[in-house]
Amino acid sequence: MQKDDLKSLVTQMYENLLKQIDEQEGANKEQVINYLKDSVNVISTINNDEIDSMTHARAAFTNAYKELTDKSLASYKDTNIRFEELARMHKNTINEYVQQEIDLSLITEKFNDIQSHMIDEVKKANSIISNLSNQVKVLEETTNLDPLTKVFNRRALIAYLDDVCSKTMNNQLHLLMLDIDNFKAINDTYGHIAGDKVLIFIANIFRKTLRDGDKIFRYGGEEFVIVLNRIDDSHCKEITNRLLELIRKSKLIYKGKNLQVTMSIGATTYTQNDTPDTIINRADKALYKAKMSGKDQFQIAEDL
Ligand code: GH3
Ligand code: MG
Ligand code: MG
Repeated sequence: MQKDDLKSLVTQMYENLLKQIDEQEGANKEQVINYLKDSVNVISTINNDEIDSMTHARAAFTNAYKELTDKSLASYKDTNIRFEELARMHKNTINEYVQQEIDLSLITEKFNDIQSHMIDEVKKANSIISNLSNQVKVLEETTNLDPLTKVFNRRALIAYLDDVCSKTMNNQLHLLMLDIDNFKAINDTYGHIAGDKVLIFIANIFRKTLRDGDKIFRYGGEEFVIVLNRIDDSHCKEITNRLLELIRKSKLIYKGKNLQVTMSIGATTYTQNDTPDTIINRADKALYKAKMSGKDQFQIAEDL
């Protein structure tokens, strides 16, 4: 084998190798080593006796390069496919893992954990609520306000009247007993919540209409008591009429429906010998008369 032939072969091998590395995106050490091994094989198999041995070697180098390129491309393709497979496996593994979590103990454990946390929270909330309810009960029992309408309650009325009756009064005091007409029908037609709203609404009308010195009490379900201070009889009638008119003309819309509300009132004047019971009974009788006379009106006890 001629020196020039060898040099030409090595140059070709070298150029092919460089070309292959340049063209190969992910050329790596193994590919170069494989190429060189192939080249060694090609060179070692050159038969000096064969005329076309060099031509064959040159062709081998070219083939080797082509094979290498093909192998590299194939390997690149394989790598891509493996990557895709790995990605799929990765995804599957994650899915399987997730499915295992859902199917098996871990997710159940977590779910139970969350559930027991929730139960704990609900228990805590329940205990807070029952604690608060007890506090509200105690407050209701010890305070003088009606929790629904926020006017004074019956206990406050009795205490107030006890106080009034224990003193020598030198000013006029009128007591009104007020009862919503046909309130049961409001509850039955629109529901208890609507009924409650009517009670709040009525209490607010009283609050807005009356003076600071006047006292508003919720006596029972849909019954109120108003104590008017320092007014004469005619003024009392005026206020009573005004209240009746305000309630009659008021627009209480509940769920798009206009609730028509009227009240009946029994009025009486405090006298020196009165006790809380006697003054309340008198007003109650007057109220009864207002109901019997057709409702939406007031009657004065002295007129009975
Ligand atoms: P009248 O014109 O003769 O007074 O008839 P009424 O329907 O108003 O009287 P009745 O005594 O027949 O009914 C009173 C109703 O008031 C029955 C009761 O359920 C209801 N009530 C009592 N307290 C409350 C309350 O706090 N809220 C609600 N929504 N309803 C109440
Ligand atoms: Mg009643
Ligand atoms: Mg009533």
